[in-house]
Amino acid sequence: MSEDDYDYLFKIVIIGDSGTGKSCLLSRFTNDEFSLESKSTIGVEFATKTMPIDGHQIKAQIWDTSGQERYRAITGAYYRGAVGALLVYDITRKSSFENVDHWLKELREHADNNITLMLVGNKSDLAESGRQVSVDAAKEYASDSEMLFFETSALNADNVDIAFKTAFERVYQKVP
Ligand code: GDP
Ligand code: MG
Repeated sequence: MSEDDYDYLFKIVIIGDSGTGKSCLLSRFTNDEFSLESKSTIGVEFATKTMPIDGHQIKAQIWDTSGQERYRAITGAYYRGAVGALLVYDITRKSSFENVDHWLKELREHADNNITLMLVGNKSDLAESGRQVSVDAAKEYASDSEMLFFETSALNADNVDIAFKTAFERVYQKVP
């Protein structure tokens, strides 16, 4: 089966503060690669990965911000047509968790009401030395906002596949 044979195409966006590991999560999931020096993602608008869910080929088109989030200048086009969103914070930087509110607001303004939301606490490999956001606080926030929740590490790949896969499965379940 070729890359272009698929039953469903799902657009997923990744948002969250700059430096939380969004681009690393994307490249970890799509290439199983981790670049320690985060490469500039300018010009790269999305990456795709095709996977089977429930006997169907699902093509996920995952959009990365190319660093626009630094200027809070993400345009409506970024969100248009998205059926899922990963809101990423850094478990070692509390402000990135507090700013999830801002990103949720953006989504409510620009994205479809029925969008599947997942809260992702990244950099779990640093939990022992640098954790600033407890799992309990994040879980509570996620459940209050009807979001799925995972802690991940793009560095050691912990939970990355399962987080993306779970998001796509939830999106798939909502297909009419
Ligand atoms: P973005 O601005 O959200 O796209 O963040 P990047 O993907 O560019 O990553 C920002 C920085 O965090 C880079 O220096 C990465 O090497 C680092 N980083 C990303 N993910 C992880 C992770 O899971 N663990 C650790 N320790 N560092 C990470
Ligand atoms: Mg980035």
